[in-house]
Amino acid sequence: MYVILFGAPGVGKGTQAVLLAEKTGLSHITTGELFREAIRQETELGKQAKVYYDRGQLVPDHFTIAMLLERLSKGDCADGCILDGFPRTLEQAAALDEALVREGRVIDKVVYIQAPEGELLSRLSGRWSCRQCGSVYHERFQPPREAGRCDQCGGELYQREDDKPETARRRLEVYAQQTAPLIDYYRERGKLLEIDGDKSVEEVAENLLAAVEGS
Ligand SMILES: [Zn+2]
Repeated sequence: MYVILFGAPGVGKGTQAVLLAEKTGLSHITTGELFREAIRQETELGKQAKVYYDRGQLVPDHFTIAMLLERLSKGDCADGCILDGFPRTLEQAAALDEALVREGRVIDKVVYIQAPEGELLSRLSGRWSCRQCGSVYHERFQPPREAGRCDQCGGELYQREDDKPETARRRLEVYAQQTAPLIDYYRERGKLLEIDGDKSVEEVAENLLAAVEGS
């Protein structure tokens, strides 16, 4: 079974992908790992991808697809896998479908983990870091004993650029713009399942498993 996971930044998609992989026994494939592995093993595709990487350029879709197919041909993907972080664009989705069809395979399910924007913003922008020792806190999930002070060393807490509300809002906007067409693409093909991500990690994991295993 081939499963694609979608979810906005902050929704906990990475955590859920790991849990789903543990429960189903399916391999969990992220594009980042795919690139790093191919480059590390110095496969032909890895060498070519590295040229783009070293120039700081985006790796073209056909390389990514080729690397993905190479990865899918490995034994641990014989019964399927969980794709996390791919496809990102409509072009990639179409190219992936085409490539899979040529190999007699098909994407079975696409799960979209959702949560209200306010909740995602609060999760993403609640992180504070210590200037001195780098310890990380979260306003809601792991607050320091004294606001603005590090529990470990007493250092001043600050928000990294990535954790500021403006940055979080922008990330969510970019994600929504990129993903909306993909969501429609898979919905039109009757593959889309939607899961409420505004629940505990355990509840989301349970619902996700039920969605993936249900017919
Ligand atoms: Zn500190």
